[in-house]
Amino acid sequence: MTAVHAASPLLEVRDLSVHHGQLQALRNVSLQLPAGATHAMIGANGAGKSTLLRTIAGLHQPSTGSVLLDGEDVTRLRPERRVRAGIALVPEGRRLFPSLTLEENLLVGSSSARKGPWTTERIYELFGWMRDRRGQRAAQLSGGEQQAVAIGRALAANPRVLLLDELSLGLAPVVVRRIYGLLPELAAAGVTILLVEQDVSQALAVAAEVHCLLEGRITLAGPPAALTAEQIEAAYFGVAASGNDTSPGPVPASPSGPAPVDQLPGAST
Ligand code: ATP
Repeated sequence: MTAVHAASPLLEVRDLSVHHGQLQALRNVSLQLPAGATHAMIGANGAGKSTLLRTIAGLHQPSTGSVLLDGEDVTRLRPERRVRAGIALVPEGRRLFPSLTLEENLLVGSSSARKGPWTTERIYELFGWMRDRRGQRAAQLSGGEQQAVAIGRALAANPRVLLLDELSLGLAPVVVRRIYGLLPELAAAGVTILLVEQDVSQALAVAAEVHCLLEGRITLAGPPAALTAEQIEAAYFGVAASGNDTSPGPVPASPSGPAPVDQLPGAST
């Protein structure tokens, strides 16, 4: 176990199962995020990553299980109450209001904000280019700029936990690197981050701990440095590797350290 497990969790997911109609998208998922941690959830298309983040944010109700923030059960709180409690989501595909200006989109984020350091001014300090373009409509911004505004909008709510869904989707590698380059700064500012990502290299590079989802189950958990490429590949694709199957439960961490993940999405970027 690493030091990150020693602290009591700021965010805890307990035995969470979620259905979309007949389809079970999450199966008994449990997760603990200590304050200040950056965790990554990797997994293929349809593995259940977005469902997990959206359930934590209150956009889906679980069939069983619970979500706790700092020990408080928030499972039944409506999404806006969760924002006030300190959980903010940057949704897949950004979901900005295209006809509103950049600044108006940030103000939407602050409308149900907790008290905290992330004023519009502070967001403009983090993203130097935004101030001069604050009057521009969101629709006129590039994909990378829109992603930055979506992060800014979530920060405007002064989150304790920031949920980031597929930050790299549809963006050029150079833009992805720039956006990921901001995450250590957010972590240093005290924001606890849970990101989901198909770009495995990117996730491994920034996260203290990685979880892999496969068909709604956690198939792997551990710090990137303790996981081998074979373990990650097996957990990601569901192929048996050296006697491990993909049944629930963490694959034991290997002492052999990191290995190239050249077979996995994002390896070429
Ligand atoms: P992707 O990277 O493609 O977004 P994901 O890992 O985020 O994948 P989810 O979007 O959580 O996966 O989807 C998990 C499963 O639930 C998939 O089979 C998906 O088709 C299904 N699903 C997701 N949202 C809904 C919904 N609103 N209604 C019905 N089925 C859904």
